[in-house]
Amino acid sequence: MTDTLKHKGMRKKLIEELRLKGIENETVLEAMMDIPRHLFFFDTAFLHMAYEDKAFPIGSGQTISQPYTVAFQTSLLNPKKREKILEIGTGSGYQTAVLAKLGMKIFTIERQHALHLKSQTLLEEMGYKARCFYGDGYAGKAAFAPFDKILVTCGAPHVPDDLKRQLKVGGRMVIPVGDFNGVQHMTTLDKVDENEFEISVHGDFQFVPMLERTDTGD
Ligand code: SAH
Repeated sequence: MTDTLKHKGMRKKLIEELRLKGIENETVLEAMMDIPRHLFFFDTAFLHMAYEDKAFPIGSGQTISQPYTVAFQTSLLNPKKREKILEIGTGSGYQTAVLAKLGMKIFTIERQHALHLKSQTLLEEMGYKARCFYGDGYAGKAAFAPFDKILVTCGAPHVPDDLKRQLKVGGRMVIPVGDFNGVQHMTTLDKVDENEFEISVHGDFQFVPMLERTDTGD
């Protein structure tokens, strides 16, 4: 696992591109500058494209999110050190690494067993601290609730009730909501009271679908 000067140079260009596209949170950009995204490309056929602002296949029919999307979602979260966060859709583990770099206390769930194992191993090897779980994100992780922040990185048909319940009052959830075939609306829910949320929408994105139950096919 190497991170060369060439990779760092490509990363710098990518960060500049994200800035031009409107990402303003310097803490998030700094974290992304530090993380070797190419090491999260399980499918080595695409390795040379790791620093393009695109989503790419990581096996099991899934993708590593586009850097702009990672930067945008993470900025919306307004992450603070030591905050407890629940992430749904570990995938490659790249977004998880960004959250770890920002000093968050992470609980992350992936429904594809093969991906769960790969990202858990990789994050551990790279020294990023996160509790990785294999399971269905619709149920959240009640045992560790409430969370200051919840981040969903797959397209949800609706906001799952369990996730609403597991968010702390005063906390924020960032979740792409919409139908499976089209686009999702990037949505934030601020929990202002036990059953009261302030909701706002921040543009359209395309994610792989948030599917129910765990995958037993691999
Ligand atoms: N954050 C990831 C994005 C991966 S794509 C990254 O940066 O690489 C979204 C992931 O959500 C996929 O790996 C998919 O398997 C997972 N997913 C879909 N439905 C899920 C569910 N119900 N619970 C947990 N993970 C789910």
